[in-house]
Amino acid sequence: MSATCPTVAVPATAARPVLEVDLAAVGANTRLLADRAGGALMAVVKADGFGHGAVDVARTALAHGATWLGVTALAEALPLRAAGLRAPVLSWLNPVGADWAAAVAAEVDVAVPSAEHLTAVAAAPGRARVHLHVDCGMARDGAAPASWSGLCAAARRAERRGLVEVVGVMGHLGCAETPGDTCNTHGRTRFAWALETARAAGLRPEHRHLAATAATLTDPRSHHTMSRVGAGLVGIDPSGTTALRGALTLTAPVVSVRRVPAGSSVGYGHHHRTDRATHLGLVPLGYADGLPRAASGRAEVLVRGARRPLVGLLSMDQAVVDLGERPVAPGETVTLLGPGDAGEPTAADWARWAGTIPHEVLTGLGAATRLGTRLERHVTGAAHLRGLV
Ligand SMILES: *Cc1c(COP(=O)(O)O)cnc(C)c1O
Repeated sequence: MSATCPTVAVPATAARPVLEVDLAAVGANTRLLADRAGGALMAVVKADGFGHGAVDVARTALAHGATWLGVTALAEALPLRAAGLRAPVLSWLNPVGADWAAAVAAEVDVAVPSAEHLTAVAAAPGRARVHLHVDCGMARDGAAPASWSGLCAAARRAERRGLVEVVGVMGHLGCAETPGDTCNTHGRTRFAWALETARAAGLRPEHRHLAATAATLTDPRSHHTMSRVGAGLVGIDPSGTTALRGALTLTAPVVSVRRVPAGSSVGYGHHHRTDRATHLGLVPLGYADGLPRAASGRAEVLVRGARRPLVGLLSMDQAVVDLGERPVAPGETVTLLGPGDAGEPTAADWARWAGTIPHEVLTGLGAATRLGTRLERHVTGAAHLRGLV
């Protein structure tokens, strides 16, 4: 626990919990990543920009060095166009029956991982811009190696008939957060083979992209013509090598404070018993707001400059903080998560407490703000964007 901060004079109060999105942090992270990438930078804003707001993150990234946008589903791509963003957009995860005509009409590039996808995309009116997607060793998305050369040949035939334009080839690395893992060597080799095979089939894809955040930061051999980065934009470095800045701060007013004797049971199942007389504060946030329940018994929050433990099981909408002998006034604000400047827990802390990764913590909080009921979303740091994009 960090030391008590003596400089807090007037405690902040608030009417409701707030999730603040700091776009200046996203801008700074983007500049660092654009600097490290050997080629262009695609800002991946899937899952609502990792919970930070897809349009806000996209606009910020484009103003700070990114030139492409990337999402999984087409349903995530179309709102970017509706918001007026004109940069190239790639959507890489869609069922065969997706609305490819809408993609073509909105000038959204699509990834093609199979012959069935190619047939469906080629049948759409207009000429789709496609990125052939090869599996580089995850057995997840992308074409399996055995089908790759057939896919390239079919794509070339469709291209000659004017049905599609193959503008890219993409792959993805399964172990990039562990730079020394031989799985990365295999992934890079597979990708190089896939590019050669595409070329031998007569394709000339201008955009060749393999690296996400971790490989962009640690492995220049994976950079090719473009990097697709998502986590890094919002302050997560899966490789643990680079200081990036978190962009979310979660604060909440304490609803009430009570004095309890030693031996008091707290919360569902009485999982916690106070070992001394203490003050308990009630925080109106729980797992429905994105706080991982698995962090129960380990999580802490920042109260008047000091870390205090959350005690008992996290409830759906409530958490209890043990304030010790330093009670706060009802309405005073506590900080549950932030970039860490004042000693508040970070997304990495919450991930450790919950046995997960920061990605899940941030997307969970973001999903809760979209409900728009309890958790209010504030955006800061956007002033520098005005008139830029
Ligand atoms: C999510 C995703 C990315 C971005 O990865 P980060 O590690 O978040 O930078 C890139 N490519 C694909 C295919 C993805 O699914």
